[in-house]
Amino acid sequence: MTAPAVDMHCHLDLYPDPKLVLEEVGRRKVYVLSVTTTPTAWHGTNALAAGNARVKTALGLHPQLAHERKHELTLFDKLLSDTRYVGEIGLDGSPEYKPHWRDQTKVFDHVLAACARVGGRILTIHSRAAATEVLDALERRSNAGTPILHWFSGSKSELRRAIEMKCWFSVGSAMLKSKNGRELVASMPRERVLTETDGPFGQYAGKALQPADTRYAVDMLSKLWSMSTDDVASCILASFRGLIAS
Ligand code: MN
Repeated sequence: MTAPAVDMHCHLDLYPDPKLVLEEVGRRKVYVLSVTTTPTAWHGTNALAAGNARVKTALGLHPQLAHERKHELTLFDKLLSDTRYVGEIGLDGSPEYKPHWRDQTKVFDHVLAACARVGGRILTIHSRAAATEVLDALERRSNAGTPILHWFSGSKSELRRAIEMKCWFSVGSAMLKSKNGRELVASMPRERVLTETDGPFGQYAGKALQPADTRYAVDMLSKLWSMSTDDVASCILASFRGLIAS
């Protein structure tokens, strides 16, 4: 039997009908880390997970919203004791968001410092065009918790540094479809690789991915790792369990 799927980065609150997605998640016993993009979204998104112990909600402030929502850091601090999981957080160095770099770094550093103060959190981190700067920030706040780099797209040397810094990685089918992405994933320690969809942003064949669709990533990992899909699914679930037990 195939082990239940793990979706370590999904925006449940941003689907047109989150309840429908959650019904399917419940039926298929998928483990989901439901990430948020603003502290304001926390309560509503956390309420969606009520009654499903496999769905955990992360408190986030997305780097692409840092300049508009930095005033929500007060709320972030207030809510932080309610959860073990933080994200989506991080930095985005792409041209569209670089103008707000100063706000992004302030928000990210504030979040990491707050996490360190409360004894660390499990962090799901965006690092588009900013892998070095994300790793620098994590190095400065090494007590912030366990970083999971989601959809990592840095260079090979940035990846080596992330591995040395004990980062985890969540990878999806879009990343595994590209040659670059596959080469990166092949260099990651298998025991620190988890699956994700980044749904509804993450898509496959033009359709928004849902948590159970991490099976596409599992298929691709089975080719990359020369393992059966059942073995990949078991391996991912075991890593996930190890992470949350630590
Ligand atoms: Mn995301």
